[in-house]
Amino acid sequence: MRFDILTIFPDALRGLLSAGILGQAQASGVIDVRLHDLRAFTDDPHRIVDDRPYGGGAGMLMKVDPFVRGIEAIKAEGDGECYRVRTILLSPQGRLFRQRDAADWARLDGLILLCGRYEGVDERVLEFVDEEISIGDYVLAGGEVAAAVLVEATARMTPGVVGKFDSIESDSFYDKPRLGSPQYTRPPEFRGLRVPEVLLSGDHAKIEAFREAEAWKKTMRNRPELLGLSLEETTEDG
Ligand code: SAM
Repeated sequence: MRFDILTIFPDALRGLLSAGILGQAQASGVIDVRLHDLRAFTDDPHRIVDDRPYGGGAGMLMKVDPFVRGIEAIKAEGDGECYRVRTILLSPQGRLFRQRDAADWARLDGLILLCGRYEGVDERVLEFVDEEISIGDYVLAGGEVAAAVLVEATARMTPGVVGKFDSIESDSFYDKPRLGSPQYTRPPEFRGLRVPEVLLSGDHAKIEAFREAEAWKKTMRNRPELLGLSLEETTEDG
């Protein structure tokens, strides 16, 4: 799978996207992450990507034309009609990103991710993308961190990126709106805090039942809305 990111700060993303399993997946050719400097798609000698907003207002807006030229250039490199790609504008005004999007997008050949900066982007960019996606109800300074979130979550769902796929199956949100179960490692006791005995018992059926119950409890406690409940409907201990 290929990820193309259009940004004015390609260097800021380089380290983050080449660490850990993402770096290994690129080295082994399972994924291909390409960072594109948006300024390369300007048509003026000063490589300007922003301008003042029509109608006035604070700050600068990113221009439509560098993004559109960038999308067209990236798509032209794709593999003809068989190349299934989704183009996404990162924006706090978009639909919220969910784990199931990562699973769906991992079946594509590519994602093209557009990172805004300043006060955002000219609304006409939306005519050239498939979707506007937000990573949460808060405002970041730019789309780079949000793009990294989409790449990392989607790459994890791409076969061959995570060594043991069953570690993904026990993750939060994998196949249902539920958090993962609490986990422990050595030592068995730390400052009086003991690992639950059942996890040391070697009884796999009991361990499975314990994890299942704990996962629901934690979901009830931290994210009751995932179960269609309000905070008031849950008890202190979930
Ligand atoms: N004026 C815009 C608004 O109120 O919606 C916010 C612009 S923000 C300062 C600049 C850029 O950061 C956006 O164009 C977008 O690419 C990115 N960004 C900020 N928050 C984001 C979020 N929650 N999800 C995805 N991208 C975000």
